[in-house]
Amino acid sequence: MNPFIRQELDRKTAAFYDRHYSILDWKLLNYSDWFYLGDEHRKKCRFCGRSEGDGATFNNIAHCFPESIGNHFLASYYECDTCNSFFGDTIESDYGNYMNLYHSISQVKGKKKIPDHISNDRKSKITQCSGVPILSVVGNDEEDEKDLNIYDTLHVSINGNHIEYEDVAPTHCPIAVYKCFVKMALSVMPEREMPVFTDTIKWLKETRHSNIFKYKKLLCRYKFIPGYNTTKYPCYWLFKRKGVSQCAIYPLYVFCITYGNFSYVIEVPITSELNHSIKDVPFPPLPFFTESDDYLDLSSTSKISDYKQKVCLTVSGGFKEVQPEELPEAILDKAKIK
Ligand SMILES: [Zn+2]
Repeated sequence: MNPFIRQELDRKTAAFYDRHYSILDWKLLNYSDWFYLGDEHRKKCRFCGRSEGDGATFNNIAHCFPESIGNHFLASYYECDTCNSFFGDTIESDYGNYMNLYHSISQVKGKKKIPDHISNDRKSKITQCSGVPILSVVGNDEEDEKDLNIYDTLHVSINGNHIEYEDVAPTHCPIAVYKCFVKMALSVMPEREMPVFTDTIKWLKETRHSNIFKYKKLLCRYKFIPGYNTTKYPCYWLFKRKGVSQCAIYPLYVFCITYGNFSYVIEVPITSELNHSIKDVPFPPLPFFTESDDYLDLSSTSKISDYKQKVCLTVSGGFKEVQPEELPEAILDKAKIK
C-alpha cells in the first residue's frame, strides 16, 4: 500500500468547501478511450466563437489539458483547429518548459514519452531506461569532464538517502504558465458559466501578455505529493463560490489540478473579481499526504531564463556511485548527454 495515500479527506477543509463552494465538475482521467466534452453535432469554438458554418475546422483532437501533463483521453468538441494550434504554440509551450524538470522527474508521460530533462549547461540529464529513472551528471573534476558520475556538482548534492537536484528552468513566461492553467479550467467549464469569461478569453488570446487584474497578483498555490506514482492519473476539480456575490470574501471560481508529484490551485480570473485572493481559501482536500503549501507568483509578463527550480528525492537504501564502464551499454547510451 502506498503510504502517501490518505484513507480519509481532511474533515475541516472538506467542511469549508462544502460550505462555501459547489463542485461544477471533477474527473479522474483514468479512461481507456477518448472522452469528449461538448456536442459532436454542434461544434462551436468557445475561444473564438466560430462554428463550422463560419469556416472553423475541428479536424484535430482538442485536448482539454496539454498532453504533457499525462492527459491522453480528455478532449472537447468546442475548440477549433486554429485556437488549438495557437494555444499549443504559445502558452502550452511555456508551460512545458516551466514543468520540464518536474514532468521528467515525476515520470509524467507526455505526447510520446516521459520527457528527458537536460540542464541548460548540458552537464546533467534525467532520463528513463526501462521505467527506471537515471540521473547522470558530468563530474566537476576537469579530468573527469567526459565521465558520467554522480558527484556533488552544480546540480546535485547528496546527503544520506536524500538527493537534491537544482537547475535553471528553460526559458518561459510566467504569465503564460498561469494562462495555461486558466485555459485548462475554461476547457472543462460548463457551458452555462461561459458568458462571464468573455474578457478572460480575450486576455487568454493576447499575444502581448498583460495582467488581467492589472494590480492583483496571479498566484498559483501548490503542494508537493511525495512518493512514486502516488497520484497515478491526472485529476481536477472546478469549484464555484456559493452565496451572494456582494458579501463574498473568496474567489468566485477555483480550479485544482493534480498530477505527478504536485497539486496546483488557481483562481480562474474574471475582471470584476478584484478583491479576493487564492491565498484566502484553504487548499482543497486531497486524498494524499502532502508536503509544503506554498505559492508561485506567475504575474510577470517577461520571458525568464534564470529561474531556479529544485527537487529533493529520497531513496531508501541510499545511493551508489557508478562509473560509466560499470553500466550496461543500453543505460550508458541513455545516460549520455549528447
Ligand atoms: Zn477557435
